[in-house]
Amino acid sequence: MANNRFRLKLSDIRTERCRAFSVLLVVFNIFASVKSFPTCTDKRCVLQTSRFLLQEEYSLSIGDRVKLNKEEKLVNSKILAPIKEEELKRNDYLSDKSEVFKFIRKMPKGGDLHIHDTSMVDIHWVVSQLTYLPNLYYCDTQGGKFVRFRYSDRVPEREDFCDNSWTSVKERREEIGPDEFDKMLYYKMTMDRKDQSAQVAWDKFVGSIDCIADLMYSETGFRRYFKRALTELYEDNVMYVEVRTVMTSILSNDGRRFSREDTLRNFIEVTDEFKNENPGFIGAKFIFLSIRSMPRDILEKDIRTAMELHMKYPKHLIGYDLVRDENRGPPYSELLDILFIPAQNGINLPFFFHAGETNRFGDTDENILFAILLNTTRIGHAYALSKHPLLMNLVKEKDIAIEVNPISNQVLNLVSDLRNHPGVVFFANGLPVVICSDDPATWRTSGLSYDYHAAFMAFTKAKDGLEVLKEISKNGIK
Ligand SMILES: [Zn+2]
Repeated sequence: MANNRFRLKLSDIRTERCRAFSVLLVVFNIFASVKSFPTCTDKRCVLQTSRFLLQEEYSLSIGDRVKLNKEEKLVNSKILAPIKEEELKRNDYLSDKSEVFKFIRKMPKGGDLHIHDTSMVDIHWVVSQLTYLPNLYYCDTQGGKFVRFRYSDRVPEREDFCDNSWTSVKERREEIGPDEFDKMLYYKMTMDRKDQSAQVAWDKFVGSIDCIADLMYSETGFRRYFKRALTELYEDNVMYVEVRTVMTSILSNDGRRFSREDTLRNFIEVTDEFKNENPGFIGAKFIFLSIRSMPRDILEKDIRTAMELHMKYPKHLIGYDLVRDENRGPPYSELLDILFIPAQNGINLPFFFHAGETNRFGDTDENILFAILLNTTRIGHAYALSKHPLLMNLVKEKDIAIEVNPISNQVLNLVSDLRNHPGVVFFANGLPVVICSDDPATWRTSGLSYDYHAAFMAFTKAKDGLEVLKEISKNGIK
């Protein structure tokens, strides 16, 4: 971390050991006295025992093992605790006008370990910058629900996915007025936190990111877009990022497609340029994504490409994952022959699987079990994990980080009130959680602070403060 205030000192660790010993003694005493526990017959005994048990239970939770130094304690008690208390009382804990949000935005947040390339940049910027570049055409799709884009030297040939012919963005904007046109684009490229079933929300989500991908994976837009993506994270005090990417080929203005390796090279070059200009930024690494609903031959080709790129660029392309609505399948249990291709070729391609991003039980949620058995490095979402006590223990024992994306789960309709999110259970059980942003631009947010804020206000106990933020920030750069 760039800021010393957020480092754990050796003296803290020694204190931790002493504390661990005293906790052991206390637990021993609890077990020794457990037989007499139901016989509590007076008020004093009930009050004392309740305090004691709560304290024991709280000792399991995230942040409990973290010690704050003198300065941090002061910041916690004088600044963070009063504003958190006030905002919890007012119940407007998700507003970006919140003082807690402003506090979190200024705080170093380590890494964002789960974010998708096509939704890293504020859509206001995408519309005001990328769609104002010359030679851009668009068409309507799905009866005008969405649009697609092409940068091209001449009017592109009509595509099957278009409802109509390609139209010049510049001419159309002049025709209907820039405000109205830009507003239309903004709403087609983003989602809000209400309405729709989970399935409808997923369809809207896929439609909205396809048009951003058209702008991003173009020779004209790619470098501008990705540099802006890193800028937004860095301005939000995020020092490191691991980007999930389908690694689409970049399209030139004369219709040529570059290779996927060229895409990775462009990612690396922009990252290096950005690091040179901003020495405080640690860097960006990439996780190759397949779209799980693709035919098996495409998935097989994808994993072989991921293997080759990982062997050639091991420090940059660090692993493999599959994305999209898990409920529509296929599950990992049906993809085992493909997922074992790297091992059968003697190649260690680390997995970072999305798994358990579902409300179902005894069905899609079992992807979590297969992800663990396939030795996944981390688990993306693991929303369904709280229904699996045995797997929760395994995750904790094996220290498999859970990438929790609160706002994503809310917008994609897994949960309405974030205080009912299983993240509450993960925090209370002290699981190795990292807070991530998934697709912030699509949810009309930016960077990582919005998700930190949501997790801090909705998943933690009222009295929890800086120690929790310190632990989840440290988890993000472990
Ligand atoms: Zn994701």
